[in-house]
Amino acid sequence: MTNTPAEPRPQTTALPSLWDDARAATMTEPEKLLYRSNLLGSDKRITNYGGGNTSAKVMERDPLTGQMVEVLWVKGSGGDVGSIRMDGFSTLYMDKLRALKGVYRGVEFEDEMVGYLPHCTFNLNPRAASIDTPLHAYVPKNHVDHMHPDAIIAIAAAKNSRALTQQIFGSEIGWLPWKKPGYELGLWLEDFCLKNPEAKGVVLESHGLFTWDDDAKTCYQTTLRIINQAMEWFATETTGKTIFGGQKHASLREDDRRAVAARLMPAIRGMVSGAQHMVGHFDDQPAVLDFVNAAGMAPLAALGTSCPDHFLRTKIRPLVVDFDPALNNIDAVLAGLPAQVAAYRADYAAYYDRCKHPDSPPLRDPNAVVYLVPGVGMITFAKDKATARISGEFYVNAINVMRGASTVSDYCGLPEQEAFDIEYWLLEEAKLQRMPKPKALAGRVAFVTGGAGGIGSATAERFLQEGACVMLADIDATALEAVKANLASRFGADMVRVVQMDVTDEAQVTAAYAQTALAFGGLDILVSNAGIASSAPIEETSLALWNKNMDILSTGYFLVSREAFKCFRTQGIGGSVVFVASKNGLAASPNAAAYCTAKAAEIHLARCLALEGAEAGIRVNVVNPDAVLRGSKIWSGEWLDQRASTYGKDKEGLEEMYRQRSMLKRSVLPEDIAEGAYFFASDLSAKSTGNILNVDAGNVQAFTR
Ligand code: NAD
Repeated sequence: MTNTPAEPRPQTTALPSLWDDARAATMTEPEKLLYRSNLLGSDKRITNYGGGNTSAKVMERDPLTGQMVEVLWVKGSGGDVGSIRMDGFSTLYMDKLRALKGVYRGVEFEDEMVGYLPHCTFNLNPRAASIDTPLHAYVPKNHVDHMHPDAIIAIAAAKNSRALTQQIFGSEIGWLPWKKPGYELGLWLEDFCLKNPEAKGVVLESHGLFTWDDDAKTCYQTTLRIINQAMEWFATETTGKTIFGGQKHASLREDDRRAVAARLMPAIRGMVSGAQHMVGHFDDQPAVLDFVNAAGMAPLAALGTSCPDHFLRTKIRPLVVDFDPALNNIDAVLAGLPAQVAAYRADYAAYYDRCKHPDSPPLRDPNAVVYLVPGVGMITFAKDKATARISGEFYVNAINVMRGASTVSDYCGLPEQEAFDIEYWLLEEAKLQRMPKPKALAGRVAFVTGGAGGIGSATAERFLQEGACVMLADIDATALEAVKANLASRFGADMVRVVQMDVTDEAQVTAAYAQTALAFGGLDILVSNAGIASSAPIEETSLALWNKNMDILSTGYFLVSREAFKCFRTQGIGGSVVFVASKNGLAASPNAAAYCTAKAAEIHLARCLALEGAEAGIRVNVVNPDAVLRGSKIWSGEWLDQRASTYGKDKEGLEEMYRQRSMLKRSVLPEDIAEGAYFFASDLSAKSTGNILNVDAGNVQAFTR
C-alpha cells in the first residue's frame, strides 16, 4: 500500500499568452476569432471540452443590400472551441438580434426566443445558433469570451462567491447570481455592462466566467489574466490547508488498483447496459485519488456537481462504491453491487419525480455515469468510449472545483431543481432527439486475436465502421502498432487498443482480458482468429509441428473462449464468439493433416460452446475462409512455398488456381471474411448459434450437412 497524501495540488503554472502578432496581422476579424477560440480551448484549465463559447461583432457587407452591417459571429450549437473551424460559428444580424427585444414576453417564455434565432441568420449560414447566443449579442463589446475554468468555477461554486469575486478581482470583474443560460441572462449581462462600463467581465454564480473587450487580442489576454489571477489566489490561499477534510484511505498500488477496476467494470457494465450497451473508462490520476481517498469525498460527492456542463455529462452526483482498500473487500463489494446500483436508480427516479414538470421529457437512463472507488480511482460509463472518457474529464473538473471551493469556503452544488431544469430542459431534449441513430455495434467491445494479421485487421476495421471499440491481440508487437496507427487515425484513438499476447499462454490471455476490461469496461464480441498454417506429408509431420498447430489453433481458441465466457457471464448481457476456422476444418486437404485436424477441433469446440452458452445468450458461430491470399501473412511465408510446391505453382498461379477451383470462380478477400464475422458478431444474426458460414467462393467438399 502506498499513501497518497491529501495535500493541496495547486495549479501554479501560469497560463502563457500564445498570441502571435505576426500571424494575427494577416487575419480577418472572423479568422482572429477562430484563432483566439482555438488558443483558449487548447488548455483544459481555461475551459472544459465543449464548454464555453466565444464571439466577435464584425462589420460585413450584406449580400442583399450591399451595405455594411454589424454581424455577430458566435460559436454555434455543439462543438468545442479548441477544435472549432470556421463553419462552427453561426452568423447573425446584430440589428435583428436587437429587434428581438420587441418580441420578448418575459422570463417564463424565454425558451421560445431560441425559435427566433434562425430568423436573424446572416448570409444563409447553416450552423444552428446556440442557446447562449443572447449572452454574447447583448454585451456591448466587440469580443466576448465565455469560459469554464476550474479556478473560476471554484469561486462561482463557493458559498460566499460574491464576496470572493470582489476580494480577488475588485471592481474589474463583477458577479451575477445563478441564472440558467438563455435570453434573460443575455439581458442581465447587458444591464451589468451598461451599469459598470469599466468592468472587464463577470463571474456567473455556479457557472463560469465572461470577459470582453473591443479588441480581439486584449479580450484573449484579459481572459488569461483573470484565470491566472484566480489560480494564483487559490495556490496561495490553499497552501498548508487540509483538503477534502483530510485523508481517510490509502491508495492501493497501481497494479492492484487496476486489478480491482478490471473486476468491477464488467460487473457494473452488466448492470447498466440494459437499454444500450455502455463503454467504460478508468482514471486513477493523482487528483482523482486525492478525492476518492478523502474523508470529505462522500459528503461532497452527494452535494452534486456545480457547473451545468459538468453535471450534464456526469449526472448530478456519482455512485460511491462501497470498497475499502484496507480490507481489499472486492468479493463483498461485487456481491453488494446490485443493491448499490438499484439504490442509485431509485434515488435518481425520486429526484426525477420531485423535480419534474407536467411537460418534462420522460425519465432517462437512471444509472450512474461516475463510480468513485476509494483507494482505486474513478470509473465512468457512457454510450461510447469518447463520451465515457470525456465524462471522466468533466468529473475531474468538478473535483478541482470542489477542492478549491471547499478549501476556501463551503462548496455549493447547483440547487436540485435548477439542475433538473437544465438536465430535462426541452431544448436539451430536442438536441438529443436530433442525434443520429446509433450504429449497429455502438457501445460494443470486441476482442480480436490475430488482430495484426490480414483477416483480423480487416475484421477490426469492419467492426469500427459499425461503431464498436476494438482490442487487437496479437503476438507480433510491431505489426500490432502499425495496424493500430492506421485504424486509430481513421476511427479515433479512443476506439482502438492493442495488447501483445500469445494465445497459447494462459497467463497472458487472462491478463489481456483484464486489460480489455480496464480499457473498455468489458466485452461483447470475441473473434478468435490468431493462426498459422503448416503443410507437410504425414510421415514428415514432426511432433513439434503437430503440437504447434494444436497449441495455437485448438488450445489457443479454447483459452481465449474460456476467458471471454467468464467475462460474458459476469456481465450477464450475452455475447458473441466468432471462430475464424477454415474450409480445411470440414474438407480434407493433402499434406496438411496437423492444420486440418486442429481446424476441425476448432469447429467442434465452437459447437460445444454454442450449446453451453445459449442459456446465457452467448452465441458461438464459425466463419470458414479459404484461400485468402491477399493481405494474409500466412500466404507470404513457408505455407505459400509449400502449397505452391504441392500444386506446382507460383503465387499468382496459385491464386488463379484457387479461383478456378472455387465454384463461383472468385477470389476471397479479407474483407469478405470480415463481413461474415460482422454478421455473426452483430444482432443481424441474433437468432443463430452453432452455425458455420463458409466464405470460400463455393467448395462442394465443404458443404455442411
Ligand atoms: P495472418 O498471418 O495475416 O494473421 C494471423 C495473425 O495471427 C498474425 O498477425 C500472427 O502474428 C497472429 N498469431 C500467430 N500466432 C499467434 C499466437 N500464438 N498468439 C497470438 N497471435 C498469433 O493470417 P490470416 O490469413 O489473416 O489468418 C487468420 C485466420 O484465418 C487464421 O486462423 C487462419 O488459419 C485462418 N484462415 C486463413 C485462410 C487464408 O487463406 N488466409 C484460410 C483459411 C483459414
